[in-house]
Amino acid sequence: MSSPAAGQADDLSTLKQFRSAGRGAWAHVADADWSDWRWQLKNRITSLAQLEKALPSLTVEERAGCTLAGSKLALAITPHFFNLIDAGDSQCPIRRQVVPRMEEALTKSWELSDPCGEDAHSPVPGLVHRYPDRVLFLVTDRCAAYCRYCTRSRLVSNASGYDFQPDYDAQIEYIAQHPEIRDVLLSGGDPLLLSDDKLGGLLARLRDIPHVEFLRIGTRIPIFLPQRITPELCAMLKKFHPLFISVHANHPRELTTEVRDALGRLADAGIPLGNQSVLLRHVNDEVTVMKALVQKLLICRVRPYYIYQCDPIAGSAHLRASVRRGLEIMESLRGHTTGYAVPQFVIDAPGGGGKVPVNPEYVLSRNADRVVIRNFEGKVFEYIEGASQPARYKPSEFFEVPKAPAPAHVRRM
Ligand code: SF4
Repeated sequence: MSSPAAGQADDLSTLKQFRSAGRGAWAHVADADWSDWRWQLKNRITSLAQLEKALPSLTVEERAGCTLAGSKLALAITPHFFNLIDAGDSQCPIRRQVVPRMEEALTKSWELSDPCGEDAHSPVPGLVHRYPDRVLFLVTDRCAAYCRYCTRSRLVSNASGYDFQPDYDAQIEYIAQHPEIRDVLLSGGDPLLLSDDKLGGLLARLRDIPHVEFLRIGTRIPIFLPQRITPELCAMLKKFHPLFISVHANHPRELTTEVRDALGRLADAGIPLGNQSVLLRHVNDEVTVMKALVQKLLICRVRPYYIYQCDPIAGSAHLRASVRRGLEIMESLRGHTTGYAVPQFVIDAPGGGGKVPVNPEYVLSRNADRVVIRNFEGKVFEYIEGASQPARYKPSEFFEVPKAPAPAHVRRM
């Protein structure tokens, strides 16, 4: 797949086009294999030698990054996702997300290996209980491909020796013993890497807990590996409603025809879909790119849910865009496009403070009597509340409504 020459930005309508990922270097592969998610997993690019062969334009920084990946966060790219990379563009937004770079070895003093403080809020292995009524249920440390900015890079892929060992029995027992937990989010790693039977068994055990009202799955599989969204998987998932799925797409090019169809199958199974993006430098920190992404998501029946400020994960500085840029993008969306297309921009407060919404300032001043606001065009308005001003009518006026004079043509008759 090609992108424009350096310096020449795609326009909105070009970015919103749906294209197939194509076969690329795998043109010889039988259709049945290509559409088989297990074949895609088995044929991922996972080594420097494979990547060099598939992407001869690999830079020195990328080569060095691949060498380091084995001790930090593994390299893995599915053939489907690899085909979205523009081989002629070293700053390709797809490439920046999954091809390791040397800069990952550079850690700033404020960066952390567990920026959201999950380990400190983990009562049993694999469970994070940080908010009052919901828990994060980590299912696995494996993903179809590895995002270079992953907030859980300390544990996913096990390259850095974290040795993540979830304990499903203990996780389920903890939830059963805590009636305040009404919402369970399955994440990881990617829960949709489990077999249908294993995932279905886990969902059934959670559904059996009377106070669990609501199940969620966080997954990037529909984007990295749309072949995994089989009719059988959808038929299994729909038994566990209310079940929501949050997908993770960052750039409109990720929404291929294959991904659109996979998302359609999930939507047809009655699963409400949301998207979580991470604001990333030279990936989606441009207004047109983000606008194309959120509009294209709605076409795929996915509600843009969050844009995350990239967590201060160790070695991610080269991928982090500024909060100021995030606010500018939010400003360019609110009022300028469909409200459903506007996600919430959040910072996950470092150290375990949870998600904090961050918004452009629309309230210019406020007191008990009035709120001064500005709209998306910058026009200023006043909303009167008048809390400190007594009502001026008398009770008799309230009941005796003065009659309006009859219209002139009626009076003449
Ligand atoms: S898919 Fe999610 S968990 Fe896996 S590497 Fe990417 S961000 Fe991390």
